Amino acid sequence: MNLYEDSRRENVHKVVAIVKLISILFCGIIVFSIYGNRYNSIARISSDNYDLVSVTTICVGTLMLIYELWIFSYKRSRFQKRWDISDIIETILFVGVFYAIVFVSGKHLSSFKFLFLFIIITSTIQFGMYHGLLCASVCSVMILTTDLIFGTSNANANSFFETDLVLTGVFVLTAWLLGDYVKIEKNYREKLHALVNIDELTDVYNHRYFQEKLTTSMSEAEEMNHSVSLLFIDIDYFKSYNDLYGHLQGDKVLKNIAQILKNSINDQQTLARYGGEEFAVIAPSIPEEEAIELGEKIRCAIENTCFEGEENLPGKKLTISIGVSCFPDKSKTKLELINSADDALYRAKFFNKNRVEAYVSVLDELKKDIETEHIDLISSFKTLISVINAKDRYTYGHTERVVIYCKLIAEKLGLNEAEKRILKYGAYLHDIGKINIPIDILNKKTKLTFDEWKMIKSHPEQGIEILKHVPSLQDIIPLILHHHEKYDGTGYPSGLQGEEIPYLVRILSVADSFDAMTSNRPYQTRKDYQQAMEELQRCKAIQFDPNIVDMFVEAVGEKEGFIS
Ligand code: GH3
Ligand code: MG
Ligand code: MG
Repeated sequence: MNLYEDSRRENVHKVVAIVKLISILFCGIIVFSIYGNRYNSIARISSDNYDLVSVTTICVGTLMLIYELWIFSYKRSRFQKRWDISDIIETILFVGVFYAIVFVSGKHLSSFKFLFLFIIITSTIQFGMYHGLLCASVCSVMILTTDLIFGTSNANANSFFETDLVLTGVFVLTAWLLGDYVKIEKNYREKLHALVNIDELTDVYNHRYFQEKLTTSMSEAEEMNHSVSLLFIDIDYFKSYNDLYGHLQGDKVLKNIAQILKNSINDQQTLARYGGEEFAVIAPSIPEEEAIELGEKIRCAIENTCFEGEENLPGKKLTISIGVSCFPDKSKTKLELINSADDALYRAKFFNKNRVEAYVSVLDELKKDIETEHIDLISSFKTLISVINAKDRYTYGHTERVVIYCKLIAEKLGLNEAEKRILKYGAYLHDIGKINIPIDILNKKTKLTFDEWKMIKSHPEQGIEILKHVPSLQDIIPLILHHHEKYDGTGYPSGLQGEEIPYLVRILSVADSFDAMTSNRPYQTRKDYQQAMEELQRCKAIQFDPNIVDMFVEAVGEKEGFIS
């Protein structure tokens, strides 16, 4: 709707600009006809510098107007929502030029007074009744004053004064009627706009509007060279709240939360219900640090509000978690911006909820540890990971989450810094070989054929083919190659068994599988954390190193609020 509104504004602006240009053309024709007539008489009688100066002034003024119109009209029409000083100057210039024409073509006797109608009509269409009436009044006063000053000595003074009174009446009536029509049409558009863009339950913008607004905010930011921050907000334990008090009470709380969020943002920022119990705030022109501050302000506002029955929730309070990301610093496209804010939200949930987390790209961190000559390669890996994420829509954020789990086990096991680093980068790049697997095989819901399965099984080897060109990453090659080995020796590609599988690989295997279990896959619906923990226990010594499973279960259990 917003895009339609922008295109409507652009089209209106184009039509108005064309009408203004035509009116300038008329002026040109009138000036040349007057000049032509006078030139003939001047040639016969004597030279008259006064006429030459006035004609030249009008011609130069006209050309300047044409120039100004074309230079500014396109740019302004795309972004301008209200009239500004340049519109006032433009209107004054037009009125000035029209008056000059009336003046040189006979003042009170001029038959070109109708020219003022052009500017009255265009300014009413563009800026509404108030602007149109103001313009009509100014033009009327100019015409009538000219009559009074120059026409009183004329024998027919009364008759052309009366005719001009009717003409000024037409000016005012035109502005009034057209302005009224513009107002009715504007009100109708606003009602339609609300109907299409507002979420019925919470009275804030809906998902559709959010998508449109984000697109326009990002392209404006690109043109103006500033940033757009995105905040994803999710209510903690809302399912429990609904289960405890029912959906109607849940709806009341949703409405209440939406109002609190609305009151926490300013006019430049946009709040939308992204879906279910998730909201989003688009904050143009503010860098990530300020967006985090805004997130913290919103989080506190909810934390400090008393909600009915919140004492029975796990944290004894109704709270929200917020993920923040920023364009263009943290993401280059709309999809990346949404996904990175979502990823940050996931992280906020993971770390005990009721907190604000900003998006951190593991690959950007990785760049710090890589020799400068290989930085370009790292950037290409980032592109590869985005391609895999886009292809494998079920596993978006999978690698980033596996990194979080690996960090958690690494802390629990007390690994040294070098081991932590290898594990982190191995976790991030473990699926890089999937780049060569076709999208329909990655997302296939039915059983894979022998050849398809063979292709899937080749991704660890394909991964090392990609990484072998980066000397700084040689340490992580075993993690990429063996992350599908199983403790009982039934895994691939080498069928390693027990402690033959490198230690860090056994850690990665638990983290990778845990995330696979807890996220939706083409072939299975996700398990909740409790079910996933049980599955890990069941697969001890079959698929996983039993000690690492125990440590992982313990580490995750220590994260209060993680097991829902
Ligand atoms: P988490 O803390 O991890 O966010 O857990 P959660 O329970 O909030 O999240 P989950 O995504 O598991 O559940 C979201 C719940 O939000 C499911 C549904 O009961 C509730 N919900 C979604 N839309 C509405 C709605 O329009 N009205 C009500 N009352 N509840 C809703
Ligand atoms: Mg949710
Ligand atoms: Mg929730």
